[in-house]
Amino acid sequence: MAHKHNFGAGPCILPQEVFQEASQAVLDFNGLSILEVSHRSPEFVSVMNEAIALVKEALKVPEGYSVVFLQGGASLAFLISAMNMSGANKKAGYINTGVWATKAIKEAKNANLEVVEVASSSDHSFNYIPKDYTIPVDLDFVHFTSNNTIYGTQFKSFPQTDKPLVCDMSSDIFSRTINVADFDLIYAGAQKNLGPAGATLVIVKDAIFGKSTYGTIPTYLNLETHAKKESMFNTPPVFSVYVSMLNLRYLVKNGGVEAMEKRNQAKADLLYNEIDANPLFRGTTAKEDRSNMNATFVLTDESHTEGFNKAWTAAGIVGLKGHRDVGGYRASMYNALEIESVQVLVDVMKKFAAENA
Ligand SMILES: *Cc1c(COP(=O)(O)O)cnc(C)c1O
Repeated sequence: MAHKHNFGAGPCILPQEVFQEASQAVLDFNGLSILEVSHRSPEFVSVMNEAIALVKEALKVPEGYSVVFLQGGASLAFLISAMNMSGANKKAGYINTGVWATKAIKEAKNANLEVVEVASSSDHSFNYIPKDYTIPVDLDFVHFTSNNTIYGTQFKSFPQTDKPLVCDMSSDIFSRTINVADFDLIYAGAQKNLGPAGATLVIVKDAIFGKSTYGTIPTYLNLETHAKKESMFNTPPVFSVYVSMLNLRYLVKNGGVEAMEKRNQAKADLLYNEIDANPLFRGTTAKEDRSNMNATFVLTDESHTEGFNKAWTAAGIVGLKGHRDVGGYRASMYNALEIESVQVLVDVMKKFAAENA
């Protein structure tokens, strides 16, 4: 089949080289398929260790942090992060920037925390990032979602606070440089920018271990369990970790997060410039908060919907439909999406405008 341009929001596109290596390992990883190999085999233990080391290298994770791979996705990490970060006040601040933040708030309550919504952009359908707010002094931590996959908004600078910061980075981790030392806990489902679905990445400050006020945290949900066992407490998601490791190798070999950030900026600029210049389209979020990962836009005249859908489909583009809660279009431009694919979309938009002027 002809190669498609995958603008889907997740699971994500990965480099072709990674797909090829992964497919090879399905047939022969160490004489066995990666799908049948024991997670206790030395070959897989070294994959896990390399994956953890590559995360540390790519994000310059400082001493005093553990990197763990779990299952359950970001959705379980909503609960895990709240349980493990529960502090003296059993009270946490959440910045509500949409569906995922709202789900995180729900799970914090399930972890018996009192939740203060320190800021929210619900007044404008979550189309911007709240900026002016004060953070109460009696919070155990502040939680935010660095990139709002559904709406296409992204924190360009992170909340300023002396409280521990907890962040759902599912859809923009490894897309830009971050200072891990600013955070106590970062989590991300693998399938948005790291690898295949099945693994959840958590980066956690070791100093939090043993300090939770939640009570007895169930064994699997206690991050210390996994940190102590180097993510081998139980059977890890072997294939997802393996392919994530391949993708991290590729990332580091190709200039790392710094190079990726430049590439992602160039892709985003190319598309947003077209959205702004083309009278048939309009961006849906505040310009200063536009996500470099997920660009959301609508047609200025909905009667063009059928024609535009035909045009991009014919160009081999897939995954451009907006989230069912929001409608319109969403172009997800994760790390592995080539700028050539963005150019194909921009050309379709230009041609469509010329034909429908
Ligand atoms: C996709 C997504 C989630 C949910 O991830 P799962 O791994 O499917 O639970 C949470 N937060 C953000 C920002 C996401 O993009």
